[in-house]
Amino acid sequence: MSENCLFCKIVNGTLEADFLLETENIVAFRDINPVAPVHILIIPKKHIASLAHLEEEDESLMGEIVKATSDLADQEGLAEGYRVVVNTGSHGGQSVAHLHFHLIGGRSLQWPPG
Ligand code: 5GP
Ligand code: ZN
Repeated sequence: MSENCLFCKIVNGTLEADFLLETENIVAFRDINPVAPVHILIIPKKHIASLAHLEEEDESLMGEIVKATSDLADQEGLAEGYRVVVNTGSHGGQSVAHLHFHLIGGRSLQWPPG
């Protein structure tokens, strides 16, 4: 838990979000400003500032997040494909400093990003 972290507040219930999934280690909820018909954020409950702040002990947690992301894509019916994005740091366009995986789908997406 990190003071004043938006996503820590979602994890501990101070800020409202409907969880699509919750385990001992992670939660998933819909993005407040979706960029596609399906836009879900999958985050660790543990405060990790970004992908650049991973520690050795976080390895299995990352595996759990990636598997949950794949399972959520199935649940959401994204059989035609989807994109998983982890914006990291200022050049990566990260705006919330609590690690989160975006699951984006439900329409054809452009590549490369700007
Ligand atoms: P980033 O830009 O850091 O990769 O992504 C942060 C994401 O969090 C954005 O897509 C933004 O719409 C989403 N977001 C910001 N505040 C909230 C909130 O209070 N609730 C939810 N559900 N999503 C949020
Ligand atoms: Zn946090």
